[in-house]
Amino acid sequence: MASGLLAVRLALKKAGLAQIDAHEWRQSVVLTGKAGTWAQYITAGYAAANRGYKGVANNIEADGIEPEESFLPPNRDTDLEGQSFDVAIIGGGVTGAAVARELARWDIKIALFEKEEDLAKQASGRNNGMIHCGLATRAGTKKSLYNLRGNKLYSSAAGELGFKLAWPGQLVLLPSDWQRILYPVAVLEAARKGVEGIRLLSRRQVFKLEPNATGSQHGAIMMPATGIVAPYQVTVAYAENAVQNGASVFLNTAALGFVMDRAKITGIITNRGTVRARLVINAAGVWADKVAGYAGDRFFTIHPRKGVMAILDKRTGAHQKSILSMSRLGIRSHSKGGSLTPTVDGNILMGPNALEVPCREDFATSPDDIDFLLQRHLPLNNTLRSSHIITYYAGVRPCTFEEDFIIEPSQYVTNLIHAAGIQSPGLSAAPAIAVDVAEMAVATLKREKEVRPNPNFDPIRRSQPLLSELSLEERAKAIAANPSYGRIVCRCEAISEGEIVDALRSPLPVDTLDAVKRRTRAGMGRCQGSFCTPAVLAIVAGETGQDITAVCKKEAGSQMLLSPTKGPLPEWRKNSES
Ligand SMILES: Cc1cc2nc3c(=O)[nH]c(=O)nc-3n(C[C@H](O)[C@H](O)[C@H](O)COP(=O)(O)OP(=O)(O)OC[C@H]3O[C@@H](n4cnc5c(N)ncnc54)[C@H](O)[C@@H]3O)c2cc1C
Repeated sequence: MASGLLAVRLALKKAGLAQIDAHEWRQSVVLTGKAGTWAQYITAGYAAANRGYKGVANNIEADGIEPEESFLPPNRDTDLEGQSFDVAIIGGGVTGAAVARELARWDIKIALFEKEEDLAKQASGRNNGMIHCGLATRAGTKKSLYNLRGNKLYSSAAGELGFKLAWPGQLVLLPSDWQRILYPVAVLEAARKGVEGIRLLSRRQVFKLEPNATGSQHGAIMMPATGIVAPYQVTVAYAENAVQNGASVFLNTAALGFVMDRAKITGIITNRGTVRARLVINAAGVWADKVAGYAGDRFFTIHPRKGVMAILDKRTGAHQKSILSMSRLGIRSHSKGGSLTPTVDGNILMGPNALEVPCREDFATSPDDIDFLLQRHLPLNNTLRSSHIITYYAGVRPCTFEEDFIIEPSQYVTNLIHAAGIQSPGLSAAPAIAVDVAEMAVATLKREKEVRPNPNFDPIRRSQPLLSELSLEERAKAIAANPSYGRIVCRCEAISEGEIVDALRSPLPVDTLDAVKRRTRAGMGRCQGSFCTPAVLAIVAGETGQDITAVCKKEAGSQMLLSPTKGPLPEWRKNSES
């Protein structure tokens, strides 16, 4: 691809965007001007990408699209004012949480700031939980490198941190016989990347493995090194182990800006006061370019790519063992195309799709999205029906125009490391990204102070086992020791009061319904909380000391109950109405 400013300008002109100006800034290219549509904004970004620059800072204004502000916690206090840390991590997705845990191996003071009221509320809790084997990522990219390494680290991470992990493998179904020519190419690619076990299956072998697979398949490429996890559980597990080893996690805490002394961050301005940190790690997902901008280092742009997924009833889990997708040879796309993915909890996930959207926190779903998923994915398994859908959700991928991760110390700010642009397969890559970012962080800290291993580091997360994972004898024992394990609150998922209490008393205390759901699955079943919500509300209120009417579903302001049907208004309601 031709490189340099002239090449960028020519590419913009070719795309019908001659009005867009391009200029160099440090080692990146900056785009300015006006575009008629969001699609043009995106086209311009890609036209300028990978033309010899480190990144594209796309500052184009698109008609009718207002610059977007992120959701910020409403709380304002000074509780953190003046506090000092060795490392401050901005962002409590899987990247930030895994980095915190890797850093906890060292005897240093670590803070993780997350603007939402819980971890994994953005991409890390809104994906389809696949641990990709790494065959699909372009060799030579950071995506590929970290995907391959991350995949191989997952088994030990799951063992130490106690999250569920399974390796069902992925079947890429072939829609025609001639697509078998893909196989030798895949074998070469797998050998180059060290992906083990791929094999070609005939139509009959596919049916033997997956009797319900579509009749329109002509065999498949099997990739057994593809796994599944519940991504929010992975994130919480990493963060809890970090906390058990001395790290601090601050929820409802947003980084709003930096205090700079030339090329050094000397303060992090938050909604809870200004804190100091020797080193800052930018793991802010879709907002990572804004956070880089706080330090005057916005050499890249995050453009949001939304994906919608549907969750199918647990009954469907028995009808499919492997991940099923259809080969899309010849279709140019930045996304892998989605699949029917079994979950570690027995459901099937359908999707995602991929849509360029202007809003970074656009988690809306539409009938069109669902129609698309039904058409593309449902036919892959003959037993599935649209009535199996129990709910849907959307996540937003934090993509750069270079379509690669940015994992490196800032070249201009002496105490900033970027872990940005972590789109798919960022979940798969997280364990490996964390190892490298922690190494970079320790190397940077060592320039200022001695850094010793944490003598008390314990890689094993101490957590209560889920009852559903225990044998009947083990359950009986647990109930005899603590009768609240015998009181089932969520009937769909068979979650007991004791497990909900355990989640609320975990090393990372939470106080909302959704946070309980992420940790225990209470409310994740077929009825989606219709039956258990009142009971869970009462348990959360009892454990956290909140009035039951004040307990929120998610962020502040999402109370489930308005007021008692009889009696005076609760205090929070009076205040909110005054
Ligand atoms: C639809 C979809 C499907 C996907 N499927 C897969 C898959 O199957 N396998 C896979 O490997 N990957 C998948 N991915 C990609 C994966 O989800 C992401 O790569 C990964 O979750 C990124 O994690 P992160 O921690 O970098 O970002 P995030 O999870 O987005 O976390 C960033 C965090 O930073 C916080 N934050 C932002 N700004 C601030 C601030 N100023 N102050 C404090 N906090 C801040 C945010 O609230 C957020 O919690 C998928 C993604 C999507 C959207």
